[in-house]
Formats: sequence, C-alpha cells, structure tokens
Amino acid sequence: MNIHEHQAKALLKSYGLPIADGVAIFSAKDAETAAKSLPGPLYVVKSQIHAGGRGKGRFKELGPDAKGGVRPAKTPGEVVSNATEMLGRTLVTKQTGPAGKVVNRLYIEDGADIQKEYYLSVVTDRASQKVAFIASSEGGIDIEEVAHATPEKIVKVFVDPLVGFTQAQGEELAKGIGMPADSQAQFIDICQKLYKCYMDTDASLVEINPLNRDSKGKVMALDSKFNFDSNALFRHPEIVALRDLDEEDPAEIEASKFDLAYISLDGNIG
Ligand code: ADP
Ligand code: MG
Repeated sequence: MNIHEHQAKALLKSYGLPIADGVAIFSAKDAETAAKSLPGPLYVVKSQIHAGGRGKGRFKELGPDAKGGVRPAKTPGEVVSNATEMLGRTLVTKQTGPAGKVVNRLYIEDGADIQKEYYLSVVTDRASQKVAFIASSEGGIDIEEVAHATPEKIVKVFVDPLVGFTQAQGEELAKGIGMPADSQAQFIDICQKLYKCYMDTDASLVEINPLNRDSKGKVMALDSKFNFDSNALFRHPEIVALRDLDEEDPAEIEASKFDLAYISLDGNIG
C-alpha cells in the first residue's frame, strides 16, 4: 500500500525527522490561507499523486510548455494561480504511464533553500534477508539512472536485525556520500529515526529523494515515499486510514475486499 507525500511527511515528523512546514488542500479556495500560514518567502505547490517524477511531469491538458507538477511560487497569489491550474488536471510522469493521474490534492509547502540534494532509502533486501540502507550523493534524480550511469555513487549498508542500525553504519553512509562533517550527526540521527519508523510501521520501502542540505548545513527531507507490506496492514489501522482509493486500481480494490492479493498487469493476464 502507498500513501501520499504529505501523509508520508506527517509520519516522518511523528518520528522526529526534519521536514518543511506544509498544508494539504483539496480545493484552490484553500490555497491562499494555506500559503499565508507558512513562513515563506518561497512556497512550493506539489501535486499529490501516488507516483514520482512529478517535478519533470507535464499536465496533459496544458501542453509541453506549461510548468510541471511541483512548482515554486514567490507569493500566496502565485500559489493560488498555480493551484487553480493544477487541481483536477492530469499529470503524466515517467511513473504514471501515458494515461497519467488526476491531481485531486496539493501539498503547499514552505520553500527550502537547496544547496545539495542527496538520496536516502530503506528497503527490505530479499537477497540478504536484511533491511538495507541505500544512500547517494546524487539526489533529486531517479535513483535507477544513478545506478545505471554511476553505480559507484551508491552506498549500501545491511542492518543486522538483532543489533539494529548502528552509529558505525551511519558514519559509513555519511562518509560514503560525502556529507560535510558539520551535518554528519544530523544525517546519522535521521537514519536512526528512519530505521525505527520503518520497523514500527512494517514498511517495505521508505525513500527520501531529495534529502536536502541547505546553505546553513541543515538536513531535511523534501520528498518522501512509503510502501507498506500489505500482509502486515492488519496491525496498522492508522496506516490503512491513509489509503486513497482514487489512486488505486478498481480491480485491486475489489480483490482486496476478499483478501486476495491481485495485481493488474497489461494484456490478458492478471
Ligand atoms: P518528484 O520526485 O515527484 O519530482 P519532489 O518532491 O522530489 O517530487 O520535487 C522535485 C524537486 O523539486 C526536488 O528535487 C526539489 O529540487 C524541488 N523541491 C521539492 N520540494 C521543495 C521544497 N519544499 N522547497 C524547495 N524545493 C523543493
Ligand atoms: Mg522526489
């Protein structure tokens, strides 16, 4: 099961991870109030769909020259005009397929001062049967592209379930991605909190891309994605409550009512 970015960030925040302030809205009439509740002076209007690549994505109805699914705005007025243009429109990204996804909600977030974007994720690695941390100095872009073009820029550590994520592993990741010395302790703290969040929620993937380091050395999650193990959802009614049926395949929703794990595929098989 997936959740939206704003829900993922609320979850990260509850584990003490640093995120920017933000407000989720469903209607453009709420955009101005949302923007005015944030510190400013920069805002970012972010499409909430269960797919990545939103920044580089394009709205089907607006053509290739219009801005993408993640838009900076300098004033609350610009937040409103962007929100009006984006809501109800179909965003096509590398991950949505050509049909795209309708944007029914937006996250209005405080604009961060981006100095350097890193990548950090936690996944269950089937081969080693361990939880793996994957980090890279090359954040903000698709990690598959980094893995393909510059695999040496990806650092991994595997967590011993009896020991948990260690300080030494945090240092190995921090050094491996070239995190400046004055931000390493923050980075390791983020990894430790992320591990606890991952284990507590029975997640199967948490991805923070980008993890930003600003010009003052503060490290913060600017994007976040979760996948949860469906077989463990019975233990987490609070996560099931975050489900957005608009984002799911109707055939999979129907199957889930009967406890069937059904995955729609292209063509004639399912
Ligand atoms: P996606 O991965 O779906 O394209 P992101 O949330 O990663 O969406 O946003 C794309 C890019 O937009 C980020 O890599 C970052 O450069 C920028 N961005 C996202 N959120 C903020 C923010 N709050 N402040 C400043 N820039 C942001
Ligand atoms: Mg991203």
